[in-house]
Amino acid sequence: MLEEYSEAQQAIRRMVRDFARKEIAPGAAERDATGQFDYDLYHRLGELGITGMAFPEEYGGSPSGFLSLCLATEEIARVDMSLSWTLMVGIMGASMIVTMGTEEQKALWKDKWVVPVVKGEAVTSGAITEPDAGSDTAALKTRAVLDGDEWVINGSKAFITNAGLDNNIFVTVLCLTDAENKRFDAIIVPTGTPGYSVMPAYKKMGLRSCDTRELAFDNCRVPAMNVLGPRGGGRGRILRGFFAARIALASTALGLARECLDLALDYAKQRYAFGRPIAEFQHVQAMLVDMALNVELSGLIRDKAARLLESGQPHAKEAAMAKYFCCESAKQAADYAVQVFGAMGFMDECPVSRYYRDVRAATIADGTTQIQKHIIARELGCFR
Ligand SMILES: Cc1cc2nc3c(=O)[nH]c(=O)nc-3n(C[C@H](O)[C@H](O)[C@H](O)COP(=O)(O)OP(=O)(O)OC[C@H]3O[C@@H](n4cnc5c(N)ncnc54)[C@H](O)[C@@H]3O)c2cc1C
Repeated sequence: MLEEYSEAQQAIRRMVRDFARKEIAPGAAERDATGQFDYDLYHRLGELGITGMAFPEEYGGSPSGFLSLCLATEEIARVDMSLSWTLMVGIMGASMIVTMGTEEQKALWKDKWVVPVVKGEAVTSGAITEPDAGSDTAALKTRAVLDGDEWVINGSKAFITNAGLDNNIFVTVLCLTDAENKRFDAIIVPTGTPGYSVMPAYKKMGLRSCDTRELAFDNCRVPAMNVLGPRGGGRGRILRGFFAARIALASTALGLARECLDLALDYAKQRYAFGRPIAEFQHVQAMLVDMALNVELSGLIRDKAARLLESGQPHAKEAAMAKYFCCESAKQAADYAVQVFGAMGFMDECPVSRYYRDVRAATIADGTTQIQKHIIARELGCFR
């Protein structure tokens, strides 16, 4: 059965699209060129209720469902994938407090950490990856040891989104807390805690106005209560949270792919070669057709994964499928868009050149394509 978006979802998409076109798009190329993050622009996402879409009303949120949030990130990514990633990661730490925190933590951290994120005044980070442990999260070495009523954290994390932004309030760090039994916990480390250092920003191929840093923890002490939720099994809890992150990331890839299709189609109708628009050539049509088909299919699997999540049904397989398919097909869409534009597509002044660089991270971050295939195979029962 064809599942349409509700009136509310359509209204959110229109509202975010309008804002993205008028307010986000104009400065996107400049932000990419300078690597600058626009704090005022981010705050305006808060004023529009976009940063609060994943939060209940009691936290100041404007809960409109996970699929609506996906539609919003999709529209932002159509014009600026960097900003959509900052948003996606920026709200996640606070959202984890609401979904995984104890009642005491929620009460204590609501005004301090959750509400500022809901308002778009602050962002958070999540640190799992380490220099020597990426896909293999069980191999991570950052240790946290209880000393009285404090955790003492030592180790380093790599490729962490948002960590260097001025409005970052904390990072949720996945730590080995019981080496003997291989147990992990997610521990909140507020920005500015002694022993927690944020390294200079990486120089990146794309997503240049999205902050990415290495982090170091050197006898960094935080209160024992900063462990998120009940003790033990933090890795499983965090990785389950990844299902939502993967669907959101797939949505950013879908947005970028839609835009690549629209830009390439418009250009193909206007650009003449051999006395006719290049859209009339079958080999150009083949690229446009593949892009259009993959955008349709990406939308279907993304929507299915988001709806399963919203209704509390199992969605590990669909989240992995959405991440795999949306990101790989967006990568191809950006490649085809550059091809349709010819030499102009290779120039910085042409948006598809930025899209081509930005989308490259999508098949790597939040679990690579190969890891998504591994998850799908496991969910299919190929192995246990
Ligand atoms: C822009 C960007 C932002 C990021 N933001 C964050 C963040 O905020 N927080 C965070 O914690 N991390 C972040 N990451 C890191 C990201 O999650 C990791 O890069 C990712 O999990 C892969 O780990 P790795 O880079 O160490 O690759 P590796 O794990 O070393 O993998 C290298 C290659 O081997 C393949 N491979 C590995 N294991 C298998 C297997 N079992 N089967 C088949 N193939 C395999 C991979 O698919 C990949 O192709 C970010 C990365 C990028 C690019």
